[in-house]
Amino acid sequence: MGRPRRATPPENWKRWYDLAVWRSKRAAQLREHPLCQHCFQQGLIVPATVVDHIQPHRGSWNAFILGKLQSLCVDHHNNKRWHDNPRTKAPRFQQIGLDGYPVADNDADSGAAR
Ligand SMILES: [Zn+2]
Repeated sequence: MGRPRRATPPENWKRWYDLAVWRSKRAAQLREHPLCQHCFQQGLIVPATVVDHIQPHRGSWNAFILGKLQSLCVDHHNNKRWHDNPRTKAPRFQQIGLDGYPVADNDADSGAAR
């Protein structure tokens, strides 16, 4: 209260998740897609608790605000984090696209479907 309205987001992107703009986006996403989308594609009905950026925003405010979102359970969200972090030795998680087919890795789709 009494603080001037910020024209720019906080520098530390981890704090973006505390902003009202994110909280309302997150609530809208969970209202529209209340189930974990990856579990659902495997025929499992699991409530989503995490709203995730399909493309990691990597600290880009525009990507954070405008990027497409997906609802995930904690397990699938953590698996995706492994996928994103090449330093961990965990197995890569196969992402499933909205069409129900696995999303090809960038290095694996050369030549295909051109
Ligand atoms: Zn799941």
